[in-house]
Amino acid sequence: MSAVEKRLEEMKAEITNEVPNDITITQVTYEGPELVIYTRDPKKFAQNGDLIRRLASQLRKRITVRPDPAALSSPKAARKEITSIIPEEAGVTGLDFHHDTGEVVIEAEKPGMVIGKHGATLREITQKVGWTPEVVRTPPIESSTVQNVRNFLKQEREERRDILERVGRQIHREEMSDDEYVRITTLGCCREVGRAAFILSTPETRVLIDCGDKPGAEGEVPYLQVPEALGAGASNIDAVVLTHAHLDHSALIPLLFKYGYDGPIYTTEPSRDLMGLLQLDYLDVAAKEGRTPPYDSEMVREAIKHTIPLEYGDVTDIAPDIKLTLHNAGHILGSSICHFHIGDGLYNVAFSGDIHYDDTRLFNGAVNDFPRVETLVLESTYGGRNDYQTDQKDSERKLKRVINDTIDEDGKVLIPAFAVGRSQEIMLVLEEAMREGEIPEVPIHLDGMIWEATAIHSTYPEYLRDGVRDRIFHEDENPFLADQFNHIDGGEEERQDVADGGPCIILSTSGMIEGGPIFSWLEHVGPDPNSTLTFVGYQAQGTLGRRIQNGWDEIPIGNDNGRGRGDTLTLRMNVEVVDGFSGHADRQGLENFVKTMNPRPEKILCVHGDESSVQDLSSSLYHDFNMRTFAPKNLETFRFV
Ligand SMILES: [Zn+2]
Repeated sequence: MSAVEKRLEEMKAEITNEVPNDITITQVTYEGPELVIYTRDPKKFAQNGDLIRRLASQLRKRITVRPDPAALSSPKAARKEITSIIPEEAGVTGLDFHHDTGEVVIEAEKPGMVIGKHGATLREITQKVGWTPEVVRTPPIESSTVQNVRNFLKQEREERRDILERVGRQIHREEMSDDEYVRITTLGCCREVGRAAFILSTPETRVLIDCGDKPGAEGEVPYLQVPEALGAGASNIDAVVLTHAHLDHSALIPLLFKYGYDGPIYTTEPSRDLMGLLQLDYLDVAAKEGRTPPYDSEMVREAIKHTIPLEYGDVTDIAPDIKLTLHNAGHILGSSICHFHIGDGLYNVAFSGDIHYDDTRLFNGAVNDFPRVETLVLESTYGGRNDYQTDQKDSERKLKRVINDTIDEDGKVLIPAFAVGRSQEIMLVLEEAMREGEIPEVPIHLDGMIWEATAIHSTYPEYLRDGVRDRIFHEDENPFLADQFNHIDGGEEERQDVADGGPCIILSTSGMIEGGPIFSWLEHVGPDPNSTLTFVGYQAQGTLGRRIQNGWDEIPIGNDNGRGRGDTLTLRMNVEVVDGFSGHADRQGLENFVKTMNPRPEKILCVHGDESSVQDLSSSLYHDFNMRTFAPKNLETFRFV
């Protein structure tokens, strides 16, 4: 018997000992980080309200209780009973019974009403029917991504259970080494922006944090082939942890599966869905531009199948010697600061991913309170000496002025925007400004992936700032469902109608005018001197957006990516730049994050920024806070213990 089996047997005996005599335990097993207890008496188990909590603290494990398949009531009878227990206002839209695990997935418009106060309704369900309920929210705005991911996971349920069981045994294996060390190897995003990737290693475990591409430099991928990473084989890596869904952090994760990786990905649930959406779009764009993508969509599905979603604040065993906790990073939906507790109090490292320190309309600011942190790996996108952003209030004022001036002239306001994050932030600004009468109520058209990304945001209100979350909970107040928003889903014909119509605001991808429907809008609106092209996001060197900002007014047009017929279009519309809507902390924000961090770390690695930004930030933090700081290059290894 393996050590894992032996430990499971021991725990089964401990549990049997602890529960009342009339409860039979049939099996105890691991599923990912959780310990799953199968019982023939789920109803009695549920009646002992405190039992699961007691077992969890005694065994120091997250515990799920499931009915033994032999003890299940028929789905038909259970369905009737469940429907009578859950209040009608909960808006149940689906009940899915899974016989192999004894779970019933309840999809509802108001999950809180299915859960009940402190889980009372859920316990009542188990007490009456024996099945273990699992609750998910019905997306308030239909989202094909959320639907596809859920359907796919349902279809792959059995294989997923095998994966989780295997991962569970891997996490809870016996530690083999007496040696002690903690190291970080940088595989990318050092003295550059993009291709984020790090290896955190101990004698026992290797964790890959992020695996992104480098925008504008498709060939430059993280150094995955070194011995610390895949050089020693894909099974060398125990776990992948993803900070957030942006492609410069997530694009190459599916590639790992092509190389034979078969382990877990830990991230938040919205990050999983957004990652799928963005990776599929990444393949799409590559195909349209005639490049061979590094992997196909099958590998995206593998990544989703291997994702173990975690909530902020959950302390989770991901290896015998590593616990992971995700904390809100304030950057995009589901973005996380990843905190690793290594050994039994041996060492603590936090990876910031991308952060926004102050609150925005959409998100609460990044968390910087931890039980312990000795080393922080900190993004430095705006770490340069002069990287100060306009205050968002001033930016909003300027945006409203541009809109008022343009509409006064009967023009249209065209805003190129990133689908994830910035678009929703701008939508909230516009919705409020119209509600308060600060700008006229004109239609706001949303084109490209913006509507789909917005639907994903509405599916996970728990991850949004308190005020927005509460408004989504009350469906008639959901700001994203305001009347003025119109999803362009009728293609070119609908765009022509909008172009022929009166004043309006148009948000369209891509954010840097690199492709997407923004080109079509430029053809329609570009020649109109009364309309205004308004930039609200960063325009990278070499993009068409940057060139227009610099005064170009001859635009190549043609096919989708603007590199087709060789025709040009003369822009006669006004061009305005409104900055200050960034998803990143600026220099001040990064300094404040460190200054108020509790506890303050001993060491900081400044990464994910241009050479001068990381150098500037690193030397300032050293001078201001008297801590050891570094601006590593790619492929450096740091030993901390
Ligand atoms: Zn990002």
